[in-house]
Amino acid sequence: MSEQIYDVVIIGGGIGGLMAAYRLRKNNPDCKIAITERGDVLEKRICIAGKEKSCAHCKICHITSGFAGAGAFSDGKFNLGTAYGGTLGEELGEDKANKFINEVDKILNEYCTSGEPVVYKSNDELRLKCLQNNLRLLDMNVKHLGTDNNYLTMQNLIEAIGKSGTDLFHFYNCKSVDKEGDVYNLNYDNGITLKARHIIIATGRGGAGFVADFCKDFGVKVRSNHIDIGVRVEMKDIIWREFSSKIYEPKILYKTKTFEDRCRMFCFNQGGLVSAENNRGIITANGHSFAQADKKTDNCNFAILSSIRFTEPFNQPTEYAENISRLANMIGNGNVLVQRFGDLIRGRRTNDHRLAQNTVTPTLKATAGDISLVLPHRILTNIIETIYALDKVAPGTANDDTLLYGCESKYYSIRPEFNEKFEITDGVYIVGDGSGICRGLSQSGAMGIYVADCING
Ligand SMILES: Cc1cc2nc3c(=O)[nH]c(=O)nc-3n(C[C@H](O)[C@H](O)[C@H](O)COP(=O)(O)OP(=O)(O)OC[C@H]3O[C@@H](n4cnc5c(N)ncnc54)[C@H](O)[C@@H]3O)c2cc1C
Repeated sequence: MSEQIYDVVIIGGGIGGLMAAYRLRKNNPDCKIAITERGDVLEKRICIAGKEKSCAHCKICHITSGFAGAGAFSDGKFNLGTAYGGTLGEELGEDKANKFINEVDKILNEYCTSGEPVVYKSNDELRLKCLQNNLRLLDMNVKHLGTDNNYLTMQNLIEAIGKSGTDLFHFYNCKSVDKEGDVYNLNYDNGITLKARHIIIATGRGGAGFVADFCKDFGVKVRSNHIDIGVRVEMKDIIWREFSSKIYEPKILYKTKTFEDRCRMFCFNQGGLVSAENNRGIITANGHSFAQADKKTDNCNFAILSSIRFTEPFNQPTEYAENISRLANMIGNGNVLVQRFGDLIRGRRTNDHRLAQNTVTPTLKATAGDISLVLPHRILTNIIETIYALDKVAPGTANDDTLLYGCESKYYSIRPEFNEKFEITDGVYIVGDGSGICRGLSQSGAMGIYVADCING
């Protein structure tokens, strides 16, 4: 195996890598392709964290790593446009970006065998209501598969890719890459080296360290990106039903009064569950929901994140976000913290007694505590102001019993320099969340298809 030279090795088995592999094969049936994934096969990815059990600190997080990537247990919301979820529209031009997003949608339709997904259309009435309250509703058509349908669709797609002759390797964590002539050696921590003429780096957000090392080794210039830090918010589902029944996922921007910072409400999960994810040993909050009615909860959840773009000389935004989350884990005894909004604004911690009496039952076992001991003043102020602003369009959001889980963060700190093919050095391409361009399934998948066409279209 180690003597074979692949035409393309893809590092990372999330949607970016899968779409690239799918398209490479369509373009060229004889192409020698491998996908190497540091996590497990999809069927063996099981996370025990939930209402009863807290995060088990698995060495490789099953929520974010493994075939189907970070999107495996996601809600399966596919944005049918470029209004949010990344800046692919700016990079490729709107028409081209939309063309590739539509192609992702077509491929997913082919493998979505468990029912017709719902498409939610944009809504003028809600957009106006938000505008009248200083809020900007980001609106576009969204296709919702739900966690269960999304999982089956990914399973079918991966099976088809494997059957088409592409090698699928799990527990292949790429540690380093070196080059001999025009062939790259990809060195994995299981001791195996694969050889390839082209590489597609599709390592997602979790692969930020790998991308940083690669760029350093190959002299690729990088620039800092912004980070988003905040909390996952959970409340009774009925509070946001006017929005979720019409547009499914409200994504709302707010410019805060005190600092004039940008805060965003996003990743809304109707009838959903708050989840924990393990990013390099740091446990952070996230959320998802199932499409099936019998798996729905009484709650909804969403993220409220405050955006920060650091300026010179500081250039370690990811480490900054990680350290804040680490502090939450320290106070939370290795877990995320949960606090009632009423306790937060009264300046007291939430304890188990108050949590047990709360009308909103937490869907994640987190440690009752005080997030004001973790989040910097500016970020906390932004979050509190955003909650009050959202309360004007969805009254009840700022209830005492609303739960805040800390922390949640999204970082896209490293953005390698690339050419118009997303090639960062000769024969090496980057796609998906790890490129610093995307923040969602459809744009990550679209980048995968685009790069495949650049390689052998
Ligand atoms: C809980 C949750 C819910 C979400 N819900 C939605 C949603 O509803 N809609 C939406 O649009 N987006 C959603 N997202 C975001 C979406 O999942 C990501 O934008 C998308 O998965 C990015 O795709 P990707 O292929 O770039 O990276 P990923 O999906 O992160 O895949 C990268 C893969 O690379 C692997 N990897 C990393 N480093 C290495 C290495 N060195 N060697 C080998 N393999 C490596 C990782 O294990 C991972 O499997 C959600 C994310 C989460 C975590």
